[in-house]
Amino acid sequence: MMFAHNVRFHHYDIAIIGAGPAGCAAALGLGKSGLKVALIDKAEFPREKICGDAIPGPAIKALKSTFPFFEKEFSKLKEKQRISSSRIMLSKERSIDYHWKLPAYNIKRHEFDAFLLQLVQKYASIDILTGWPVSEIKPGNPSLIKSEKKNASITAKLIIGCEGAGSITAKSFEHDVCINPGSVLAVRGYFKNVKLDTTRNIFYVSKKYLPGYFWVFPLGDDVFNIGFGMKADKHGKVKVKMKDALEEFIHSERMKDVFRGSEQVSEISAAVIPVGGKRGMYSGEGYLLAGDAARLADPLQGHGIDKAIVSALLAAHHSLKCFRENNFSAAFNEDYDIMIRIGLEKELRKNRRRQIMLSKCPALLNIYSLFRK
Ligand SMILES: Cc1cc2nc3c(=O)[nH]c(=O)nc-3n(C[C@H](O)[C@H](O)[C@H](O)COP(=O)(O)OP(=O)(O)OC[C@H]3O[C@@H](n4cnc5c(N)ncnc54)[C@H](O)[C@@H]3O)c2cc1C
Repeated sequence: MMFAHNVRFHHYDIAIIGAGPAGCAAALGLGKSGLKVALIDKAEFPREKICGDAIPGPAIKALKSTFPFFEKEFSKLKEKQRISSSRIMLSKERSIDYHWKLPAYNIKRHEFDAFLLQLVQKYASIDILTGWPVSEIKPGNPSLIKSEKKNASITAKLIIGCEGAGSITAKSFEHDVCINPGSVLAVRGYFKNVKLDTTRNIFYVSKKYLPGYFWVFPLGDDVFNIGFGMKADKHGKVKVKMKDALEEFIHSERMKDVFRGSEQVSEISAAVIPVGGKRGMYSGEGYLLAGDAARLADPLQGHGIDKAIVSALLAAHHSLKCFRENNFSAAFNEDYDIMIRIGLEKELRKNRRRQIMLSKCPALLNIYSLFRK
């Protein structure tokens, strides 16, 4: 997939930095606004993104209900596995099942993110700059956005930071990070010939790592995404070697029948999930943050694609208001913070409390499973 590498304009109204789920959702939301918008990503697409590849139902619902073309386009995407339930395995014998009301899908991020970017190309009148790593942002009115690698720069009146963990927008605007609620570290790899159901996502908890967990998510074509996530301490470190823990899980007595004869078909790769769950700020003068850049992933389950898409749609909506009223001030952008607090933060805070409770008292899960019988 080839996109523009040279900018058409020097002055943009809006620059969206990062073309993952958040960036693409924001771009689709602004696609017909008539504003000059640039969607910028350091990578060429399709690109890898370390993830569990489980696209939560609310992510699909948000896209379907906002964009009339989405359903038809999504139905054409072949590489997806429909998931109707999840199972939490507490031990070999005891489990809790959840049946999802909304259809959810497992799709390799390599495919899903490229699909979203193709929709942007087809349906949004904006500039897409891939292979364009932003190396510096000088806040101002407008802000200056530089790419050392491209030896180029553009300006934008408003920046929507969608560049994930370690957001350059947040750093450049000295966005308040003291409210940082922490991170989860996670590893994942792809395996074939795993002897499990292919329509259900399975989470495995073990007392040793609670509230961390292992997962086995089917992707279709006999490929499974296998991973392990665990809360990091305040220095962003975990006490165990993540890859060793995943190996230990695969070879454990509990899993030996499931993985007998299985084949590892990728490296095991690690990445950080910037989780939310405290009262946060998501904007300031001249910028809005969405998705992982705003630390909106779920602290209990680690999913963030749904939050990325919903927050970015809210960011697009608020951006239009900024241009209507020609107001980019921090005070005006607080309306965006309020939308995020009501729409997303409440649930994250609830799940953060659950995560803390579980790490203090793992037996709660067993008690809960008895009540659900
Ligand atoms: C191991 C693991 C498993 C996970 N499993 C799940 C799961 O199963 N389901 C789920 O919902 N969530 C999961 N998550 C979380 C999920 O991956 C993120 O919440 C989601 O990707 C956030 O989307 P985003 O668009 O905000 O950021 P990203 O997907 O990270 O996209 C950011 C984009 O910005 C670009 N970028 C970064 N820096 C720059 C720069 N300086 N200049 C230009 N471009 C830049 C990157 O190339 C990238 O394309 C998992 C995360 C991890 C680490």
